[in-house]
Amino acid sequence: MSLIVVGSVAYDGVETPHGKVDRMLGGAATYISLAASYFTKVGIVAVVGDDFAKEDTDLLAGHGVDLEGLERVPGKTFFWAGKYTPDMNDRETLQTDLNVFADFNPKLPASYRNAPYLLMGNIQPRLQAGVRSQMKKVRLAGGDTMNFWIKDFREELLATIRGWDFLLINDGEARMLSGHDNLRKAASTILGMGPHTLVIKRGEYGAMLFRQNSYFTVPGYLLETVFDPTGAGDCFAGGFIGYLAQQGFDLEKDHISRGELSRAVIYGSVMGSFCCEQFGVERFRTLKRAEIDARFEEFRTFTSF
Ligand code: AMP
Repeated sequence: MSLIVVGSVAYDGVETPHGKVDRMLGGAATYISLAASYFTKVGIVAVVGDDFAKEDTDLLAGHGVDLEGLERVPGKTFFWAGKYTPDMNDRETLQTDLNVFADFNPKLPASYRNAPYLLMGNIQPRLQAGVRSQMKKVRLAGGDTMNFWIKDFREELLATIRGWDFLLINDGEARMLSGHDNLRKAASTILGMGPHTLVIKRGEYGAMLFRQNSYFTVPGYLLETVFDPTGAGDCFAGGFIGYLAQQGFDLEKDHISRGELSRAVIYGSVMGSFCCEQFGVERFRTLKRAEIDARFEEFRTFTSF
């Protein structure tokens, strides 16, 4: 196993201007794992209920995702429903039924504990810290969080991210976490909290990578139609860490160059863009690595000057 992904595996109900699906496979760990699976061998740590369908485990397994860490317990799988605004830059959460996710206490199988890369999806910071401490040989660890944890679990969150190499959050969360509206100031404050690398995701407007004394910004890929942005941020994270895992970085030995991190941001953007092309995880049923690399090259063409 190369990359361990921890987070939610869910059923989602989603409504966008292009349609409505009442129940489909979702969850942050699902999207991260599917996206990262194009780059590296992934093991997933999550919990589902006894209603979780075989065709859904088959999709993950079909992408080579190891399921030993996918715990199945009696009860219902986490359910989330949301509705997007007409421009799809915002969404309203309509329903969150934690179900079996309420008692999620991630336990890593022995075969996962020596993996070199770790990505923690948006879950309670104390659980993220518990996962980090179960992994003894991590070369690169980081993850995501959300406004709820920033607002109501601030001290726990700060203690957790102190041990991370990278943090991936959106612009609103960066402002909230840092207390600065200006993103450059926000980034500088967050880089003082522990992570040496910060990625601020900005939805359709792209992403920014910050390190001490340097930054890199990338526009969003201009899709002709955005069907469903659900999971795009998670797919960005999967592409970002997946690419770095594929390159085999070891921070103890190697200096991660600005160039490699920038390429990781581009692969993140590419995976986020594919995610939006169809509802839910549908695009990953047909997506091929060659399409990913072609879009990566397209990014190079339209951003060079
Ligand atoms: P994104 O659009 O990248 O923010 O990811 C959306 C995914 O996150 C959906 O598939 C949801 O199932 C999942 N999700 C929504 N709310 C939560 C939550 N509170 N905790 C964990 N996962 C969530």
